[in-house]
Amino acid sequence: KRGAGERRTLTYHRGLREEALFFQDVVREFAPALRDGLIGPRFQPIVSYPGGSVAGVEVLARWKHAEGGRTDPSRFVPVLEEAGFAAELDMHMVVRALVHLKGWVDRGLGTVPVSVNLSRSSLRAPGLPDRMTALLDAYRLPSSLICLEVSEEAWSSDPAQLKAALSRLRDAGFSIAVDDFGAGATSLEDLAGSPVDVIKIDKSFLRSQMSERDGMVVKSLVRLAHDLGLAVVVEGVETEEQALFLKEAGVDRAQGYLYAPPLDRASFEALLGGGGSE
Ligand code: C2E
Ligand code: CA
Ligand code: CA
Ligand code: CA
Repeated sequence: KRGAGERRTLTYHRGLREEALFFQDVVREFAPALRDGLIGPRFQPIVSYPGGSVAGVEVLARWKHAEGGRTDPSRFVPVLEEAGFAAELDMHMVVRALVHLKGWVDRGLGTVPVSVNLSRSSLRAPGLPDRMTALLDAYRLPSSLICLEVSEEAWSSDPAQLKAALSRLRDAGFSIAVDDFGAGATSLEDLAGSPVDVIKIDKSFLRSQMSERDGMVVKSLVRLAHDLGLAVVVEGVETEEQALFLKEAGVDRAQGYLYAPPLDRASFEALLGGGGSE
């Protein structure tokens, strides 16, 4: 008869084996998937508080599989990062974002800033600021329309290099957001003097039942952020209660299923063209 410990060991090994196979699949299939157009953007609106109009959009990667399945970026992005392909994904997504943004501008659908996610390795490439500027020039779009989201985690590895890269991007007109703020150890004090415009408070920060004390914490966080000249965006807003609470706390913008999930292009354009933009 097997003991509980042994059973656990077996499950553990199966987990590792599955992870290893998943890693291999992602690495093998990434380049063909990019080439075949299977990796592309979804668009999640960002709304302004307290009004609720569409104030921006975040571009999120989706990978369609030839067999019809789909992989979640929270699974494949870490693999690409580890395998050294994340910067390729990021640049692909930046270009896709610019193509769509250019289309919205040209068709008069309303122009909202577009947020893209950059992995740490993208920001390590010395040529990134020049490449980004060249791309914006090529599409004849102002860099002020692009917000670059960098996860809070990135601050833990070579912050001096990161700050230098972000400074150059910010000097070139891009805005910079710290993503997943509150999920890790980075504090607002750490960010003081960093080339940052926005903090995006992580969805793990929101609880189903917000207490009066939570309210005070969020309020003082928002106040401090504003004192530092930072705008505050909250992601993962799912309920009216949370929205009321966050508006009360002075949050500037929000994103979440309460407003819209990540949408396909047509659905997002309908929203943009439907009066949400002005
Ligand atoms: P993130 O940048 O923190 O993006 C927010 C995630 O929260 C998205 O997951 C979004 O779909 C999800 N979300 C939005 N509203 C709600 C809500 O109300 N409730 C809940 N529970 N979740 C909500 P998604 O699309 O699965 O992306 C996961 C992560 O993958 C992103 O987290 C980002 O870190 C990464 N990612 C996605 N696209 C890219 C990309 O092009 N490049 C890089 N480097 N990373 C990407
Ligand atoms: Ca993000
Ligand atoms: Ca986030
Ligand atoms: Ca994240």
